[in-house]
Amino acid sequence: MDKDEEKSCTVCGAPGRLTVARPEGSLYRCPACDHCFSGLETMPEHESYGDEYYDEKHRAWFENPNTELFDYIQGWVTRVGPRASVLDVGAGRGDFLRHLRAKEPGLALTGVDVSPIPPAEGITWIRGDALDLKLARRFDAVLSLAVIEHVVDIHGFVRGLKALCAPGGLVVVMTVNDRSILYGAARAMRWLGLSGPFNRLYEKHHVNHFNVSSLRRLLDSEGLSIIETHYHNIPMAAVDIEAPSAPIAAIYRVGVRGAFALGTILRKTYLQTIVCRNAGP
Ligand SMILES: [Zn+2]
Repeated sequence: MDKDEEKSCTVCGAPGRLTVARPEGSLYRCPACDHCFSGLETMPEHESYGDEYYDEKHRAWFENPNTELFDYIQGWVTRVGPRASVLDVGAGRGDFLRHLRAKEPGLALTGVDVSPIPPAEGITWIRGDALDLKLARRFDAVLSLAVIEHVVDIHGFVRGLKALCAPGGLVVVMTVNDRSILYGAARAMRWLGLSGPFNRLYEKHHVNHFNVSSLRRLLDSEGLSIIETHYHNIPMAAVDIEAPSAPIAAIYRVGVRGAFALGTILRKTYLQTIVCRNAGP
């Protein structure tokens, strides 16, 4: 077999097989744990995140925060205690912590992001990479929403989250679900010659395309005790559709709505959020 047709799985290390060769970066799937990941050396360049990332391609996403998900995570955080310390790793524009601050003003909130975050009363923002900052403390709850799919060294990332979490504290990770109805439909459409939705979901900024079992396997392998997987989508208003014309965009929108509804029934939703306890030291 050609050496480019196999790459070590980023979750379990087994030889992953080339499934899609494309200029934007080839995709591999692991037969052992079903994880899908991008071959980094097949990608033209690894781009930085300019304003374009927030303002153009993901406008609807950032303008319509997922408050239902925020409330779900809030439920877990408040169980830790009314004065719990919370760290958001890759806070983006800080929407989640601002939501939490409005609902639970007693919590001690810190957000870290490589991009600047608009100031907010009662929240400490730190600019930088949370795993490199050497924060001299640990938090009762460490969250990371829509970040891990962008990370190359996912084992190192999870170890970093765990190191920032106090013993007995919570680690919460939200990411994509490559075995969702939506992703499956995009793969089927690509097979029929329509690659737009596929390339949108398997975008070049994403290098690890998790499914529910591969995410669980990764976190479990780093010593986190899994409490629950929450299956969810995003609000329809937050769906960024890219289509060559308005009628095609309308058809895509109906398709996404259907994929979300079916995904909810079958527990094959577009996104997943996993809640774990740091049972270790
Ligand atoms: Zn694997």
